[in-house]
Amino acid sequence: MLSGWREATAGRPWRISAKLLIVSSVVTVIGFSAICVNVMLDMRRGEKALARQTLENLATSIDADISRNIDIYDLSLKAVASNMLLPEINTVSKSIRQLILFDHATTAKHFGAIQVFDADGNLTIDASTLDPVPQNRGSEDYFTVHRDNPGAAGLFISRPMLFRGAYSIVLSRRINDTDGGFMGVVAGSIRFSYFHELFERLSLDPEDTITVLRSDRTIMMRRPFDLDIIGTNLNDRRAWKADNLRVGASYSGEGPVDSTPRLYARSGDSGRLFVVAGKPLTAVFALWQREALRIGAVVLVLALFVLGSAILLAREMARRAEAENKLEEMATTDALTGLKNRRKFDQVIDGEWRRAMRQKAPVALLMIDADHFKAYNDTFGHQAGDQVLVGIAICISDSVRRAGDCAARYGGEEFAVLLPNISATDAFKIAETIRGKVQGWSDDQATSTVSCGIASLVPAAGMDWSILVAAADKALYAAKAGGRNQSVVASLPKLSLAA
Ligand code: GH3
Ligand code: MG
Ligand code: MG
Repeated sequence: MLSGWREATAGRPWRISAKLLIVSSVVTVIGFSAICVNVMLDMRRGEKALARQTLENLATSIDADISRNIDIYDLSLKAVASNMLLPEINTVSKSIRQLILFDHATTAKHFGAIQVFDADGNLTIDASTLDPVPQNRGSEDYFTVHRDNPGAAGLFISRPMLFRGAYSIVLSRRINDTDGGFMGVVAGSIRFSYFHELFERLSLDPEDTITVLRSDRTIMMRRPFDLDIIGTNLNDRRAWKADNLRVGASYSGEGPVDSTPRLYARSGDSGRLFVVAGKPLTAVFALWQREALRIGAVVLVLALFVLGSAILLAREMARRAEAENKLEEMATTDALTGLKNRRKFDQVIDGEWRRAMRQKAPVALLMIDADHFKAYNDTFGHQAGDQVLVGIAICISDSVRRAGDCAARYGGEEFAVLLPNISATDAFKIAETIRGKVQGWSDDQATSTVSCGIASLVPAAGMDWSILVAAADKALYAAKAGGRNQSVVASLPKLSLAA
């Protein structure tokens, strides 16, 4: 099997190499491209993870700022709610009462003045004035929630609303009397201007979004600011699942408000409010995209260069292989007859001899010699003699057609035909066919005939193929001696003859 392959490739190694070159170049290019794609995807994942972390940090820090302000404000509400229970509070003058209730209350630019409502929702005390304009807030949810839920006393954060002329969120606490009875509500507000100022301090791209949500997913504030969205609930918005805003996870895709695909991450679960920060995916991957395009272009150029070079080299190799084959053909062919020359014949007989020895198979040899050729030359001229040699070669080629057979011009007007795996009897038949063809082909005035010596044997170990040549030669002499135009089989009684 292996030796067969070696023999098949020995004649044209370049052609195989050219194919190998192309295949290995393609494999190399595919391999490098796969590595490159893998690295790019890794980079993309890295960019996304980094953006997610940045968004989460941003959301968490905004959440912390808001929570801190709510806590500070809540402290004041708590203080008012507990001071309202002081027995003196209704006996002192209004200005003293203001001092008792609100002296330590937090005042800041974006905090509305604290107000106290009685159990019916009537405004009784206002931190900003001693004589508040009478009003009733008994139907507002920041009031009813405390009135109707005595057990759930705590800080209530209202939906965004117009409160004292400005969009705000209202924070309220229930005022309990000493028996836990409902005494009213203390309320304060944080204006939207607080959020606007907070968001302005951050350096954000126009398409980035910040959404502040109550724990029931009501949108309290959003950047970019849109009053129509504020106060709506995320659960009511299109194609938005609760799962999309899990703590510690991120979501990428269309958001609840617009169709721009973004990466979203949220702050932790503080209980009251949480913040979601979003960044358009185009911005998240902008740097990566530029880098990927650059590297992709370089890899593509390199791949084209490698493949182009491989194709050029392969073509050159094929061209050279063809030229070498032609040269080899010329070096092994007899120019006059087109048969193999003596040099090639020696190579072939050497190889076939070894093979026959391995396979313990017969190998036959015909030695064919033109009869009285000197006389023919002398009579009809050398050129006519050459034509006879070409004619004999055609007769031989016509009779020897098997793949392993080798017909060669052995020298002058002598030819040799190597016939592997053939007995002397079959070889004799072929010799007779050749002889008959030559005789039949030549014209009557100048009859050309050939004599054949035939030998066939199974090579034994240590035997040289020169024995076969010598035997066939001897048989040829016998044919000449026997009157020419005949075939004679060598008799080799001591050797392993194949009859
Ligand atoms: P025999 O029957 O005994 O073989 O006689 P012969 O004349 O054929 O043998 P011999 O060896 O005496 O002569 C061989 C001749 O073959 C001599 C030479 O002129 C001729 N010859 C050898 N090579 C060529 C060739 O290439 N072309 C031509 N035209 N003649 C050749
Ligand atoms: Mg002769
Ligand atoms: Mg001769």
